[in-house]
Amino acid sequence: MNFDDISALDKADPLAKKRLEFDLPTNTVYLDGNSLGALPTAVKSRIADVVSKQWGNHLIRSWNDHHWIDLPTNVGDKIAPIVGAELGQVICCDSISVNLFKLLSSALSLNSARSIVLSTQDNFPTDLYMVQGLSELLGPDLCQLQLVAEEQIEQSLNEDVAVLLLTQVNFRTGQLLNMEKLTQLAHKQGILVIWDLAHSAGALPVELDKCKVDFAVGCGYKYLNGGPGAPAFLYVAKRHHALVKQPLSGWMGHAKPFTFDPEYKSASNINQFLSGTPCVISMSALDAALDVWQDVDILEIRQKSIALCDVFIRTVQMHDCLHELKLCSPSAANQRGSQLAFSHDNAFAICQALIEKGVIADFRAPNILRFGFTPLYTSFEDIWQAVTILVDVVTSELYKEPRFNLALKVT
Ligand SMILES: *Cc1c(COP(=O)(O)O)cnc(C)c1O
Repeated sequence: MNFDDISALDKADPLAKKRLEFDLPTNTVYLDGNSLGALPTAVKSRIADVVSKQWGNHLIRSWNDHHWIDLPTNVGDKIAPIVGAELGQVICCDSISVNLFKLLSSALSLNSARSIVLSTQDNFPTDLYMVQGLSELLGPDLCQLQLVAEEQIEQSLNEDVAVLLLTQVNFRTGQLLNMEKLTQLAHKQGILVIWDLAHSAGALPVELDKCKVDFAVGCGYKYLNGGPGAPAFLYVAKRHHALVKQPLSGWMGHAKPFTFDPEYKSASNINQFLSGTPCVISMSALDAALDVWQDVDILEIRQKSIALCDVFIRTVQMHDCLHELKLCSPSAANQRGSQLAFSHDNAFAICQALIEKGVIADFRAPNILRFGFTPLYTSFEDIWQAVTILVDVVTSELYKEPRFNLALKVT
């Protein structure tokens, strides 16, 4: 593998032109789009319009005139095809954490003869914290968390389990779980399944309907590029809409919010999962960001993601000086998402030094250096450059300098 091979890959890349739809800083290789997606150019003009014209001039009329009130459903409808869902099952609102509270409560009450929520030890902590909070609220007779290792999920599915809560792509290692198989095995035991798509929506093909998933949540600010703190989304399979009940029964989930009825009566469709007023400015940013996907084939995203990871691994392996970086992601491409994790005793300091040199990666405690690959705007040349700089940081021992070894609030 040499620089000519890299250039050839970029020339043959059908997604290469999508990069022009993003505003990226120069002299930067951004390998952290799995944490905060880059800025789609269209978002800038949309936000200027929402603030100056819609809010500034049209004020409250914009709820109708500019369809602010429909943003949660319209944005949900734009996300639906990205996650393999027929329309009317996805809605944009709140954060993943809050949406998990709604879905966990819903699933537990649909399966109320059982109390166990089964999840993995290495799941993203907020997912586990939300179960713990709900368990405190409802008591152990109605909700208790059971944690197992990823390899033990299958053997832990039994008739005591009410809900299986899984993240499709592990946030640290990038391990990809088999959604179709695990959902099917869970259903055989009468278990309802909630999938967290934070690291899969927009990174690889997701087939919620085809896999007969019950519930899902996903992130607006990672691979969907909705901006910092962008609202999240949730999915509820249509077959559950009539029976389900969620406890954050705010007015936006009411069948007729503007009758101001003192009694709550939930909407019969996916809108019943709304609670309060949508965050119009950031939801508009996500709405504009999603237009980038209109002409994108998610299979091409997956192919390029696999190729980017492959080139990264191969270029790292070309350099003996990088032998202390141990790949902790699965080595088989079909078993991982769109990120690579390497362990190293000095992972934190190496990451800080890389950032100073213009390669944005991130660190995950205790010793993981994580690189995210976003096929919409990452080129093969980016990968080549990132590894070249990584070699420089490691061989020069630049990372040992004290300024790279100071603790940060956000990593
Ligand atoms: C990023 C991420 C979240 C974020 O949750 P918020 O409540 O939206 O901040 C949740 N779960 C997983 C798996 C994540 O990767």
